[in-house]
Amino acid sequence: MIDFNQYISNYEKCVSKYIPPKQTWTPVDEAIFKPRDLYRIPLKEAKEMQFKSIKYAFNHHYEKNEFYNNFCKEHKVTPKDIKSIDDFNKIPLIPDKFFKDYPKGKDFATWIANIYTGELPEIVIKNNKPTYDEVIDAFNKAGICITFSSGTGGKHTFIPRDQRTFYTSEYAAAKSLLTMIYPLWEYDAFGYLLMPNPKKTNVYAGKALEIYFDAVKDISVAIDREVNTELIRLTMGGKGIKGKIIQLLAKRTSVKMIDDIIKWLELREKNNDKFTMVGAPYILYAVMKKLKREGRSFNFGEKAGIGTGGGWKVHEHNRIPFNDFQKEVEEVLGIPGKYCLDVYAMVEGNGWMVHCPEGHYLHTPYSYYQPFVLDEEFNQLGYDESGRFAFLDAAAGSYPGFIVTGDQVKLLEHCPVCDRPGPVLDPEVKRVKGEEIRGCAEEVRRMLSSDIGK
Ligand SMILES: [Zn+2]
Repeated sequence: MIDFNQYISNYEKCVSKYIPPKQTWTPVDEAIFKPRDLYRIPLKEAKEMQFKSIKYAFNHHYEKNEFYNNFCKEHKVTPKDIKSIDDFNKIPLIPDKFFKDYPKGKDFATWIANIYTGELPEIVIKNNKPTYDEVIDAFNKAGICITFSSGTGGKHTFIPRDQRTFYTSEYAAAKSLLTMIYPLWEYDAFGYLLMPNPKKTNVYAGKALEIYFDAVKDISVAIDREVNTELIRLTMGGKGIKGKIIQLLAKRTSVKMIDDIIKWLELREKNNDKFTMVGAPYILYAVMKKLKREGRSFNFGEKAGIGTGGGWKVHEHNRIPFNDFQKEVEEVLGIPGKYCLDVYAMVEGNGWMVHCPEGHYLHTPYSYYQPFVLDEEFNQLGYDESGRFAFLDAAAGSYPGFIVTGDQVKLLEHCPVCDRPGPVLDPEVKRVKGEEIRGCAEEVRRMLSSDIGK
């Protein structure tokens, strides 16, 4: 078996463009790029990194983001008040709804500029009444990546990332997953991205996986057309002829997509190739349904791995438990449970919580990311209690990553199954009562035909 340090060095060689030059490293970079295994840093060492990186990030946004600075003043908190990790609960948290509360047209551009921390490059918007996609494109042209995710209410969550923040997030995503699937990953293998093509979308889960193309030699993509806010609006219930046509096309594309994936799997079997599949569980679920209907199965064994993320709804009112999915992966594809891992993340954050192969608990990257659980008055709860998920994310350099979400989680001090030191989330993540369903896989699911999973 390949030595773990060598394994990570091989990864770093593939993704060197994502790693900032060492002489420019901040305490945030130290906490993300230095540890070989983000989930196995001794607690004392990790706490030091966590304190330095989050304190650095808080200072940065306090100094360079007028909106956040005012927010802190309202809460009467300054960086001087953060003297140790015990003071982290004083850092003012922004409700995730804030990132959905945006105006139209040119005001949308101003709204993004207000969230952004630091000096924005010049943004050129030609149209007088630009659409959301035109504003996003204008920012992208200036090197600021605006990604989004949407909820059932049709509102998007928009987050601006500068190049450095985006690269850091992608680096952390890939490193987190390939650490947990050790020793499966290698560059010279095949991959299937069960998401829109990152080069043709700003849907976050698609975009953030662009690093997959650098980390694995041969990547195929499930959804290879342009996916923007307009297309999502139309497929998620757009009315009139245009909406109808797009929905019909989506249905035809979905059927072809499933057949293409099956053909791809046949080829991997024939050539005895090593491969991974990463993305929306809904798509793979539909593939396995079709295989089962035809009485077929594969036996890929330890040559293959699955990384899922973005939510577990397979129909409008039907959520598949992860355990059932994992069982199907074993039965239909013959891939062992230790190589079928779910990832919990969101568009507002850059912390990637990944299942451990031993127990399928969600491990948090605790050297740069502090998870919290809050009650309905936003007071911090202790370990083993269920509540609203919130986090302090030092990796967010271009917007304040101190955020309260609409997800309900349970935080445990230690994994009940494996020996990795940091805190974990119970794998059962739900939405807080009254919060709309969202997630990037949900976005993809609704965009595709709702029939393919039946
Ligand atoms: Zn574990």
